[in-house]
Amino acid sequence: MAFVSVTTTMTTLQFLGAAGTVTGSKFVLDTHGRRVMIDCGLFQGMKELRMRNWESLPLAPESISWVLLTHAHIDHSGYLPRLVRDGFKGPVYATKATADLLKIMLPDSARLQEEDADYANRKGFSKHKPALPLYTEQDAAAALKLIRKVSYKEKIALNKFISACFVPAGHILGSSFIEVQLNQTPSAPLKVVFSGDLGRYDEPILNDPQSETEADYLLVESTYGNRIHDRTNPKDRLAEIINTTAQRGGKIVFPAFAVGRTQLLIYYLRELEEEGRIPVLPVAVDSPMGVEATRLYTRHSEDHDFDMQRVVNLKRNPLATGSFTLVHGRSASKALNQSSGPGIIISASGMATGGRVLHHLARWLPDPSSTVIFAGYQAAGTRGRRLQDGETELKIHGQILPVRAHIESISSLSAHADAGEIMKWLGEFKRPPRKTFVVHGEPDAAAALRDRIARELGWDVVIPAHKVVVELS
Ligand SMILES: [Zn+2]
Repeated sequence: MAFVSVTTTMTTLQFLGAAGTVTGSKFVLDTHGRRVMIDCGLFQGMKELRMRNWESLPLAPESISWVLLTHAHIDHSGYLPRLVRDGFKGPVYATKATADLLKIMLPDSARLQEEDADYANRKGFSKHKPALPLYTEQDAAAALKLIRKVSYKEKIALNKFISACFVPAGHILGSSFIEVQLNQTPSAPLKVVFSGDLGRYDEPILNDPQSETEADYLLVESTYGNRIHDRTNPKDRLAEIINTTAQRGGKIVFPAFAVGRTQLLIYYLRELEEEGRIPVLPVAVDSPMGVEATRLYTRHSEDHDFDMQRVVNLKRNPLATGSFTLVHGRSASKALNQSSGPGIIISASGMATGGRVLHHLARWLPDPSSTVIFAGYQAAGTRGRRLQDGETELKIHGQILPVRAHIESISSLSAHADAGEIMKWLGEFKRPPRKTFVVHGEPDAAAALRDRIARELGWDVVIPAHKVVVELS
C-alpha cells in the first residue's frame, strides 16, 4: 500500500487511528474535495499511544465538512472536543441514544483531561509549564452543540453526492455501523462500510447486530480477532463466583465500563436473584456516568430487544436488583468501603485506569475473601490487564498494594463480538468487498483476523498502517 498524492477528483481514505491498535478510531473519506470523518476517537492505553492525541492531524480540522460517529465510547468519540477546538465547525451525526450518551461522556472525558493536567502541574512532571488539558468542559459543550440526531436506517444526505446510513451494531446503546454511499460518479457509485464496534448475538437488553450484505470497501474491527469468548453461560459463572465469595463473607468488585457492561451486569444480577440462584445482596453502582447511562438504557426503547421491552412493558425496572443503590456523591462512595459483609460494587473505569473503582480496589484487593471480576476487554498496559496476568502487587494512588483477592474474568460478558461472531457477520456479505481493512485491534488480533478472512472467505484483506492514505476506485 503506497501513499498517494491527493487530487480533487480522487476518492481517498485515510487512517488516522485504530490502525494497528485498538483505540483512536478516526477515518477520513476525501471525495472530490469534501471530507467526512468517520469516528473521532481518543487514543487510550499505553503512554506512547496517548501521546498521539497531542499530535496535530495531518489535515486541517476546518477542512472536514462532517463527522459521523458509530457510537459513544471515548475511543470512537473522545477526540471530538479537540477537533472542534482546533477548527472543525460541524455538523456531527450520531444516533439518538449515542447523542444522549455523549452529553454525559464528553464532559466527563473533559473533566478527566483537566484533572490530568492539574495533577501534572501539582506534581511538576509535565514538560509543558503549565500543563494544559487536551480539551476542557467548554470545548466538550461546544462539540455537543454540533450534534445532529439521526434514526437507525434513516438515509442522511450530507450533500448531493454523499449519503450515510446508521445500522444497529448491538455493541452498546445507540451503537451502529455506518454505510457511506458516494455517488459522485453515477456509473460507479461506491459504498464504504465502517463496522465501528460489533456487538454480540443473543445478548439481553440490545438488539443483535444487523446484517450487512455488501460493500465496495469495508473496515472491520478486530478487538477479539484472535479469540473466542468462553461459551459458558455468563450467568452460571456469575452465580458460582458470587455464591462462593458471599460464603467467604467477601465483597465482589466489578470494574465495569459505565456504559454497557454496567447495565448488562445489573440485568443478569436481577435475573439471578429472581431465579433464586444468588442471595439478594446489596448492589451498588458507584460511577456517576454509570448511574446516568443506566437511566438512558431504560429510556431508549428503540434499542431494546424483545426481553428487555417485555420487562419494561410489565412496568418493572429491568435495571435494578432487590437491594439496589445508585451511589451519588463521594461520601456515599467512601462509605461503601466501610460496610462489612458480602456485597457487590459495580464501578468504573472498566480497565481500572481511573475513576472511583480505584478506591474500591485499594480497599478490597488486599482482602483474601473478596473477588474482583473483569467483565470486559483489558487493554495492554492497564491495571486490569496486569491483574488478569496475575501480578501480585499493584500500585494505586502511589501506594503498592498486595493482591490477595481472587481475580476472575468472564469473557462471555464482553461487549465485543469474538472472532467467530465477526466471521458470522462477514459471512452475510453476498459478494466480497474490493478491499477489506482490518482495524481496531492489537497487532496479533488484527493479523489473526486478516489471515482468517483471507483463508476462509478468500477476500483481499489488509491491515492499514497509521496515517496511510489509500485511493478508492
Ligand atoms: Zn466500543
